Amino acid sequence: MARFVLVLRLLLAIPTTNISSLKKQKIEIALEVFETISELPTDIQKLMNKAQQARENAYAPYSHFRVGAAILMASGEITIGNNQENAAYPSGLCAERIAIFHTGALFPNEKMVAMAITARTPNQTLTEPIGSCGACRQSMAEYEQKQKSPIAVYFMGETGKIVKVASVMDLLPLGFDAKYL
Ligand SMILES: [Zn+2]
Repeated sequence: MARFVLVLRLLLAIPTTNISSLKKQKIEIALEVFETISELPTDIQKLMNKAQQARENAYAPYSHFRVGAAILMASGEITIGNNQENAAYPSGLCAERIAIFHTGALFPNEKMVAMAITARTPNQTLTEPIGSCGACRQSMAEYEQKQKSPIAVYFMGETGKIVKVASVMDLLPLGFDAKYL
């Protein structure tokens, strides 16, 4: 009830002149959908295969939700990451951040061009692409801005279609970055 009253007061506080000048804007994100891995470009098929291998080596004794990520560098080098859980839950980390931090540590001056992410759980067969959590999106965006060129991201479940975005920024509209500091 208290929350309802607060919202009502906020609405009443908006001058009518501002209401008439409100503009609605749409943010559109372009996705590419591939029905199977075999539809992907050859280098990205290989990248997704590396992500699948990394997924199987995830350390996920608590959630059993395994995630693998693989990053393709401009040099052709591929790096990987997978989720690493911990009995003190927040001390673990997602596959995407492990992959991107690992890559940043190994190749601080090289550009990342693409990232493939895949997930598997024993609870069900994941046939839809699995998106990254918000914290991973923020971390991935940092490296895209650092290198001043987009990183294409490919998401997949265990089987089925793959969704591609051309840039991490497509995953984080209205995001926060260093220019505001
Ligand atoms: Zn995450």
